Amino acid sequence: MSTRYPLPASRRRFLKQCAAGATAAALAPSAFAAAPRRADTLGIALVGLGYYATDVLAPALTQTQHVRLAGIVTGTPSKAAAWQAKYGIPEANVYSYDTFDRMADNPDIDIVYIVLPNSMHAEYTIRAARAGKHVLCEKPMATSVAECAAMIEACARANRALSIGYRLHFEPHTQEIMRLGREQDFGPVRFVTAAAGYPETRADHWKVKQAYGGGAMMDMGVYALQAARYATGEEPTLVTAQTYTTRPEIFDGVDETTTFQLLFPSGAVANLQTSFGIGMNYLRVTAAKGWYGLDPFSAYGGIKGRSSKGEIRFPEINQQAAQMDEVGLCIRENRPMRVPGEEGLRDLRVVEAVYASIAGGGRSVKLG
Ligand code: NDP
Repeated sequence: MSTRYPLPASRRRFLKQCAAGATAAALAPSAFAAAPRRADTLGIALVGLGYYATDVLAPALTQTQHVRLAGIVTGTPSKAAAWQAKYGIPEANVYSYDTFDRMADNPDIDIVYIVLPNSMHAEYTIRAARAGKHVLCEKPMATSVAECAAMIEACARANRALSIGYRLHFEPHTQEIMRLGREQDFGPVRFVTAAAGYPETRADHWKVKQAYGGGAMMDMGVYALQAARYATGEEPTLVTAQTYTTRPEIFDGVDETTTFQLLFPSGAVANLQTSFGIGMNYLRVTAAKGWYGLDPFSAYGGIKGRSSKGEIRFPEINQQAAQMDEVGLCIRENRPMRVPGEEGLRDLRVVEAVYASIAGGGRSVKLG
């Protein structure tokens, strides 16, 4: 039987051994495992043990049922030791960027989660696919459409899944915004406004360096862009952008505050803003027969919704656990990803148009 993501032979062997009860010890369960786990969980290796991997993804992996933290890739040996002690990760599942490709021989690791600076996403996604691993890659998918296309191609060629870390697609309030756009309870969407920003004060961080794919648009701007795309369910045809900085000594070659406007085929318009200088987080949709929105809209928790008819309220979830669990389940059940690589590429198309508009002094850029 041909499957969308057939298991590599090594993995099939491994699962067979598990079924025979021979390798329970080799699973190296997390000392922090809280939720009951299925026996056939898929192993995730986190690549790049910075803020998001350490403070958010690893704790979320103690809440998952279909995937488990199986390995790490780091350039910092002291982090490796601390993670091994904390999460019970065996030495055989610890890699550096130099030994990364040896994961090909490790059946404990099914999914490689790229949590590196943006400019490194493409290289490590492609290397992971070549090592026979499924890939979850953080947002923004890469730094150009060409890189995104190469990543999609590499995963397709290796018959491996590729998903982008847009956790909000798994979040119930956000899913309601998508549904309202589709089903038009408030009539057709006319206008979307969204803003996503925080004050970035780390003058030396890669997020403010062009060579690493830094800048507000790449970092928080993609949330505002995503919001406009999923609120309308459409792809923009015209992009216009402006950028400003109050700290040119830091924001040299990368944007600090960017506003951008999108025109959609239905005639809907979006006015969006992102910043590394201003803390802001809201989404508001104006439709023909009312309005609705979320404030905040892209936080890890505490998302609050309102509409012209009243409150929009859904249960709070662990977005990252839900995202990683669904990715694992889709691989296991041979289903397509909720957020495939193509979704990340569509954003980079618009991001490139935003930069082209800025480079052209604010001229409008057409997207075919
Ligand atoms: P950090 O700077 O905190 O961590 C990045 C890690 O990458 C470093 O700690 C380091 O880990 C590794 N690394 C390898 N090479 C380099 C290098 N040359 N310079 C810097 N770091 C390097 O970044 P974040 O964790 O904040 O972001 C990582 C990715 O996750 C980004 O793509 C970001 O957009 C995304 N992200 C997504 C979020 C979401 O909500 N979906 C939230 C936050 C970030 P080591 O020492 O182990 O090698």
